[in-house]
Amino acid sequence: MRLRKRRTTAAPPAPHQHPAPATHAIELHGVQRRYGRGGNAVHALRGISLALPHGSFTAVMGPSGSGKSTFLQCAAGLDRPTAGSVLLGGTEITGLSENKLTTLRRSRLGFVFQAFNLLPSLTVEQNVLLPMRLAGARPDRHRALEVLAQVGLHEHARRRPGQLSGGQQQRVAIARALVTRPDVVFADEPTGALDTGTAAEVLGLLRHAVDALGATVVMVTHDPVAASYADRVLFLADGAIADRLTRAPAHEIADRMTRLTARTPAALAVVR
Ligand code: ADP
Repeated sequence: MRLRKRRTTAAPPAPHQHPAPATHAIELHGVQRRYGRGGNAVHALRGISLALPHGSFTAVMGPSGSGKSTFLQCAAGLDRPTAGSVLLGGTEITGLSENKLTTLRRSRLGFVFQAFNLLPSLTVEQNVLLPMRLAGARPDRHRALEVLAQVGLHEHARRRPGQLSGGQQQRVAIARALVTRPDVVFADEPTGALDTGTAAEVLGLLRHAVDALGATVVMVTHDPVAASYADRVLFLADGAIADRLTRAPAHEIADRMTRLTARTPAALAVVR
């Protein structure tokens, strides 16, 4: 009887006993991070809660000292919150051992950094295969060439990073971040070292990875133009989410940042 009833619902559950897929790529619940104790304690994060769906592109902005790096580190399991929890693809990572956390990071997260962080002695293809090797999986060359094709670089698979332009190197880094089909790709100022035109290409590629490949991207940036490629922008101030925008143009994002910076004590300290 029960089965028959279920069949009549609009969206029937998948057959057999597979667990329901996690609804969110990443969730943070009341995440706090305090450095030090007592009167000298610094509250870098004061209780961040959010849930980002699969296939979404989120930018994180905020004045210097607002907690962006700490947020990224806690969300990516590189730092442990003082309180609260982080779930990646439905798995609570907060209490995991260091070993389990490392394994999870290698298989289920991708990273893109400002400085590309490619290994110069390896070929482009070997760089892209690296996360699989580190995760202990069999290096899948077919998959590496597939992601290199997705970023438009399959013809350069045998080259070394030093033979490529900055924009091309960042595209290799994006291919490397995508190769394991991670739950989340974290990008930390990915266009900080690129000129405007090349930055636009790289941001277009991240957008494409979200729209066409279903990737989930969380990007820290100080650049309103970069943030305008995201579906939503979260503004941090003094360790808390102070504002958010959805599908906003760069000028609107810049305007919010100016207002936020004007009322942040850390910004005043910098001005002084
Ligand atoms: P942002 O990336 O936005 O510049 P951070 O996350 O680096 O901000 O820093 C947030 C706050 O936490 C700042 O006040 C910073 O000084 C402090 N902080 C960051 N890391 C440490 C640390 N290891 N020890 C003490 N304070 C820290």
